[in-house]
Parts: sequence; C-alpha cells; structure tokens
Amino acid sequence: MGASGRIFVGGVVRCTECGEFKPLACYPNAKGCVYGRAGKCRACQRERYRDYSQTPAAKATRHRCNHSERGKERFSRYRQSARGKATRKRLAKAYAQTEAGRATAQRAAVKYCQSEHGRRIRVQTQARRDARQAALPATLTDDEWQAILMDYDYRCAYCRTPFNDNMVITQDHVLPLSRGGPYTEANIVPACGACNSQYRARLKLKPVPWKYHVA
Ligand SMILES: [Zn+2]
Ligand SMILES: [Zn+2]
Repeated sequence: MGASGRIFVGGVVRCTECGEFKPLACYPNAKGCVYGRAGKCRACQRERYRDYSQTPAAKATRHRCNHSERGKERFSRYRQSARGKATRKRLAKAYAQTEAGRATAQRAAVKYCQSEHGRRIRVQTQARRDARQAALPATLTDDEWQAILMDYDYRCAYCRTPFNDNMVITQDHVLPLSRGGPYTEANIVPACGACNSQYRARLKLKPVPWKYHVA
C-alpha cells in the first residue's frame, strides 16, 4: 500500500481515472506527486485531452498560442525540421489521392498549361523532341532562349517588329530542322508568327536574321 491510499502492488499502480493497474512507466512524470508520477495513466490523459481539445476554450487557447510570436517561430522551426517536412509530404500525398486533391491538381495543370510559361516550355519540349527524333543536338535551355530574346531587343529577327502580348513569339530555326538545323543557342532566333510561317514555306527566300548572333 502506497502513500495517500494509492495502491502499489507488484510493481503496478492503480489509475485514478480508469481504475486499472498499470506499471509505473504508464504514468507521466509529475514532480511532487506520489511516486513522482501522475495519478492518471497516459491513456486516460490522452483521452481527457482529446475531449478537451475539441472545446471552444481549448481551440481559443490553441489559436492564441499558435498565433503568438513564439508560436509562429516554433511553427516555422517545425516546418523546416525533417519531421515537419515528412509530415507535410505525407499529408500532401494523402490529399493528392482524394477526389478534391485530384481536382486541384487538374486545375493547377490546366492553369499552368495556359500560362505564358507553360506554353513556352511546351513549345521548347516539343522542339527538343523533334530534334532528338531527327538525331540532332537539342541543347537550348530556357535561360539561353531568354538571353537570345534580350539580344534581339524582344523583336522579330526578320521583320524587327517589337513583340507585344498579343503576338505569337516563335523560336525559329535559322537552318531548318529539315535541313539538319539543331535546336541549339546558335541556330535559334525569335520570330513573329507571320515571319515564321512565311519562311518555313519558302526556304530559299529566308533572309539572314537581323544581328545574327554567334553562340
Ligand atoms: Zn487510466
Ligand atoms: Zn517578323
């Protein structure tokens, strides 16, 4: 028989909540309590907390703590921790499997495809694929393409029309793909849609691009 009536026999203690006999290790440490352990077992405490955590008071406390400066700091530390990252990844993966998650992904994909960047990358991917299929080098990167555009002052390399948002900017092969022209920095110039389609049909008339650059 232990102090204050708490039963302690054969290495087990009775929980003041559920009344079960459990080893001391099942009780959280509590300074000043009998045996230095809490009266309620961990399972009971968890259950208590689960009930409490759903009450408005608990939610308010949680909200206050999470939005305090310390709470924000703690949360940002957690986000960057390995555990935080793993949890986020797990949750994202689970969400992606749900109907809502799939719908969100679909919406994002459509939005990206229609974005300026999505369009540009799609064109470049196709050009690389074409070059590979023709067994030609395909090394032009998006960064290189941006540099070429800047090099040409964002104008068509043939008619020199400045590009604007309403124009189609195409990547023109100076030496056409059909003649072994690679998809490389040295062989690609910006062209407006009109010039691109016009010269594609009549190769011989194709002028040398304005300030033809050398990679
Ligand atoms: Zn218990
Ligand atoms: Zn043009």
